[in-house]
Amino acid sequence: MTAKILDGKALATKIKQELLQKIEADDGTDMPVLAVVSVGDDNASQVYVRNKKKAAAEVGVGCEVLSFSDSIGENALCSSVRELNDNHHIHGIIVQLPLPKHLHPDVILQEINPIKDADGFTTQNIGALAKNEREAVVAATPKGILRLLENEKIELAGKHAVIIGRSNIVGRPLAMLLLNHHCTVTIAHSKTQNLSELTKQADILVAACGQAKMVKKEWIKAGAVVIDVGMNRDENGKLCGDVDFDDVKDVAGYITPVPGGVGPMTVAMLMENTWEAYLRQKEKGHKCSCGHEHCHCHHHHHHHHHH
Ligand code: NDP
Repeated sequence: MTAKILDGKALATKIKQELLQKIEADDGTDMPVLAVVSVGDDNASQVYVRNKKKAAAEVGVGCEVLSFSDSIGENALCSSVRELNDNHHIHGIIVQLPLPKHLHPDVILQEINPIKDADGFTTQNIGALAKNEREAVVAATPKGILRLLENEKIELAGKHAVIIGRSNIVGRPLAMLLLNHHCTVTIAHSKTQNLSELTKQADILVAACGQAKMVKKEWIKAGAVVIDVGMNRDENGKLCGDVDFDDVKDVAGYITPVPGGVGPMTVAMLMENTWEAYLRQKEKGHKCSCGHEHCHCHHHHHHHHHH
């Protein structure tokens, strides 16, 4: 048996094209704008920020990157997030993780107004997801995984989903999302015993543990759907997932490649979340504080470059 590839890159391209059409057809007086708050000069983060900027340009979303030096304090960073909350030209706000050690992600993330929370990382949106509320903003990676499964018409109800990883950005919200879609969900982590015994029972296996090529073919039930969230470097410095793709591809029924699987879907879903945040704010009649109906003021041209 050879697994069918779940082509996240192709689906993400299609989603972005459809999003561009929707955004172009919008009759609004302004465009959806995403603010990306970035601290320090972590290499991987810079690549992710660049990818987000590129995707934003593709779909007609404005993207403003606020870069701060890693010496910025918690108070200063919080107040710049609050400024973005008050800026009516900004519809989505994300804080690029990881933050430098002295900044607590929860403290910073909690400053984001939930209506502008494009990553769905605020306690309010996580709580809404946990309660299966329709209004919840769903984190981009879990949302992208669900979209990949739905696009392939993979049955979810009653299926056993095993998720390796319990982070706030992937494992936990994905567990809630799949539970909301009627999967039976098992969450594994670094203290889990007999992990491969568990994964062998999975109809849907998601690897989000950040361990290069950890998942082997002996861990897989024949025909299972294998979703690989990992982004690691192998011994030759090549990008690889948490799943040993070459080993697993002949046992699994479906598999996502790395790169070209979950990664592009995540970026596409961030753009969709920004668009949805824009629509929410338009509906609620959020207007620029200048008070003009069709405003041409330039609150949004505050570029922060503290190097
Ligand atoms: P974290 O490091 O925050 O979490 C990793 C999780 O995996 C933890 O819950 C940890 O357990 C668990 N874990 C670690 N080692 C093992 C092990 N040997 N066996 C079982 N469980 C283990 O990672 P993230 O959730 O942020 O990211 C996971 C991976 O996904 C990374 O490779 C990251 O680069 C990638 N990623 C990719 C994205 C994409 O868009 N494609 C988006 C986000 C992340 P414990 O809680 O006990 O420590």
